[in-house]
Amino acid sequence: MKNKEIEYPLNTRPGDGEVLEVAEGLLWVRMPIPIPGLDYINLYLLEDDNGWTMVDSGLNTKEIRDLWKSIFEKHLKGKPITRLICTHFHPDHMGQAGWVTYKWKIPLTMTFGEWTFGRMLYLEAAEKTPDFVIDFYTSIGFDEAMIQRVRDRGFSNFRQAMSPVPMGFDRIADGDVITIGKRDWQVIVGKGHSPEHACLYSKSDGLLISGDQVLPRITPHIGVYPAEPLANPLKKFIQSIDILDKLPRDTLVLPAHNDVFTGLHNQLEYYKSHHDDRLNRLISACDSPQSALDLLPILFDRELNEGDKSMGIAEGLAHCHYLVGEGRLDRVRGDDGVWKFQKSGERHKAVA
Ligand SMILES: [Zn+2]
Repeated sequence: MKNKEIEYPLNTRPGDGEVLEVAEGLLWVRMPIPIPGLDYINLYLLEDDNGWTMVDSGLNTKEIRDLWKSIFEKHLKGKPITRLICTHFHPDHMGQAGWVTYKWKIPLTMTFGEWTFGRMLYLEAAEKTPDFVIDFYTSIGFDEAMIQRVRDRGFSNFRQAMSPVPMGFDRIADGDVITIGKRDWQVIVGKGHSPEHACLYSKSDGLLISGDQVLPRITPHIGVYPAEPLANPLKKFIQSIDILDKLPRDTLVLPAHNDVFTGLHNQLEYYKSHHDDRLNRLISACDSPQSALDLLPILFDRELNEGDKSMGIAEGLAHCHYLVGEGRLDRVRGDDGVWKFQKSGERHKAVA
């Protein structure tokens, strides 16, 4: 299911810590991230009358801080950073928010859902993995070795990837318009990848800063995690596709990973067909009760390593919960205490 109708009209990209002007007063910045499969994050600088607005901040590493310092020196035309907008709370986006806002004495601008989630995860970090996390992974079928890895991981990975998350923020919400220089940017909130992800859309120039809500080459991660064990994020993601689908066809998309592209609608269509395919595979596999772990090989065409498995299970649960929400799967607890998924109605048939 390769999508051929995505184009990368710039045919180039900035180097580490360099900038590339995508449109007048709009700089694309690219920073390394040590996450396999992602490798780089794209950040954007929007020129305002008396300063610059930064969109997303990068992981909290010294390397990235040094790259930012050099960009601040070379590319801001002597103007300060006056605002930081983070699209969502994930560490590659919000990691440097504490450092940037402290350095420039500026507010952090985010949606309520993203700031509170990031602030909460930062504060609740602990050395020991909490019992509710262990219970969550036990109830979805992790064996003892996998549970031990969850324990060994502890509960402070998020905090370690962040500079201190600011204690306050400036709220943006869906439909808000932020004027930066000569452009009006409309906030479009997308869901599913994170609670209340902000995309920024300039109607006059046909530009969409899409964060992780729309990415070329890969599908955004949609997962269920212990904080909300019954979440149905795929439903929210598909609803967000329908919102973004209304944007003009020639929109130039500035994503947080990979390259600037056109073909938004083709990519959204691809997401739908990708998830439909996974949902159909699950339905066919659930004639008898299956745990999220049982279903992993059904969902992924490649063998997952241990590191990928927890994200894979999170993704698998998201698809199962979607089908439960649509009334196509039942979620039932097995005698072993593990949640299982089964085609709706099969249970009753078996009893009859
Ligand atoms: Zn993300």
